[in-house]
Amino acid sequence: MAPAQNPISSQHVAVIGAGAAGLVTARELRREGHTVVVFEREKQVGGLWIYSPKAESDPLSLDPTRSIVHSSVYESLRTNLPRECMGFTDFPFVPRFDDESRDSRRYQSHMEVLAYLQDFAREFNIEEMVRFETEVVRVEPVKGKWKVRSKTSGDISNDEIFDAVVVCNGHYTEPNIAHIPGIKLWPGKQIHSHNYRVPDPFENEVVVVIGNFASGADISRDICKVAKEVHIASRASERDTYEKPPGPRNNLWVHSEIDTASEDGSIVFKNGKVVYADSIVYCTGYKYYFPFLDTNGYMSIDENRVEHLYKHVFPPALAPSLSFVGLPAMGIQFVMFEIQSKWVASVLSGRFTLPSQDKMMEDIITSYATLDALGVPKRYTHKLGKIQCEYLNWIAEECDCPLVEHWRNQEIVRGYQRLVSHPETYRDEWDDDDLKEEAYKDFATKKLISFHPSYFLESSI
Ligand code: FAD
Repeated sequence: MAPAQNPISSQHVAVIGAGAAGLVTARELRREGHTVVVFEREKQVGGLWIYSPKAESDPLSLDPTRSIVHSSVYESLRTNLPRECMGFTDFPFVPRFDDESRDSRRYQSHMEVLAYLQDFAREFNIEEMVRFETEVVRVEPVKGKWKVRSKTSGDISNDEIFDAVVVCNGHYTEPNIAHIPGIKLWPGKQIHSHNYRVPDPFENEVVVVIGNFASGADISRDICKVAKEVHIASRASERDTYEKPPGPRNNLWVHSEIDTASEDGSIVFKNGKVVYADSIVYCTGYKYYFPFLDTNGYMSIDENRVEHLYKHVFPPALAPSLSFVGLPAMGIQFVMFEIQSKWVASVLSGRFTLPSQDKMMEDIITSYATLDALGVPKRYTHKLGKIQCEYLNWIAEECDCPLVEHWRNQEIVRGYQRLVSHPETYRDEWDDDDLKEEAYKDFATKKLISFHPSYFLESSI
């Protein structure tokens, strides 16, 4: 899109959330000349990566009166991406060999990601924009601006007017529970992965884990260490699937989907196998949830499709003053936050313009029709999969920022292939040293690291 003719204007912007998305959004908005207030209900930055051994009181998170625990991170979690491709583009996520407390592995622990985000916040003085322990409870349009009501931990509520609001509240806190016929009478324990922390409660149990992607694959193997048997129900598997996945465990089986659950404790899979299980762990994903947002009915969520959003960021009739950073589910999350927020910041300042409201709606309707024609269910609208790089590069071109690097895109592609083919070992054995080398050379060329690439390539594990 051509740069706009308008003079650059500075807006007063509220950002909701100080996770990875909110942090980089605040930085990009300030760089563009806006004034920024970040609202964060926790005591610190980091969002999802702030591990809490405490889970919610309702293991399925269905009770609306429960007190919310934001993070879904479990104790053993290591990232599912190599660190080079996970970090922001101008602040590489490189090992900190200078600090013994840090995890220098290529696929690092959740603590290391939190430490990286803290480093990022410190480097760019982001905390000075953040109001901690302040929850946004209502956001509504008022005379072309936005009224934001927030509540502090001391229960003091405050209304403020902003020119624009960027929603960065994360979308891994509100569980999606798969429906199983007969489950109401099934007598065992049920828990969603949002509330899973450690395997100990499953000692000597027979456990059914529903879902076999990143969290399901990890959690099932974590539980295997202490359980008698673990049975994965996998929607992606053929109806007659019944197999022992390769790996050191001899108490793990993969089945097709669950058919029914019964009062006698049995779970019947579509492959005809029956197990008498003590527990079910739902690794069945999350729902988008914006309980604070009132757009007078303009926006809605239908089967987990957030309607209507131009390129998953701007609701046409409310754009650009309302935007969402971080909605699509894809591999390169942090870089996506960075590119989306550069777009938001530059459109808000008037450096670039959006198409007309009608054109944006037309684009949305066409994209829904394309998904329909491909047979993609509505609930996958924001799952970008293979087109993630194309999507990011499209936005990058819109706001004149660098495209996604070749090595970053390829690390995602090859990393996910390894995740699927070798879920037990993909974090410790890899075949893409060529890409890793390309990444560190790129960091050096751009003067983003202060050591020669060999310092990292030879010492890292
Ligand atoms: P969050 O980190 O969830 O931050 C949202 C923030 O908003 C929180 O701090 C929250 O307290 C705050 N907030 C919410 N509502 C309000 C409100 N009303 N008022 C004030 N504050 C509010 N990504 C990767 O790149 N690599 C990985 O290996 C990886 N592993 C993952 C593993 C799991 C189990 C999950 C669930 C996700 C994983 N992800 C991974 C994706 C991860 O979610 C993103 O990387 C990213 O950290 C999300 O950042 P965010 O800022 O969008 O959301």
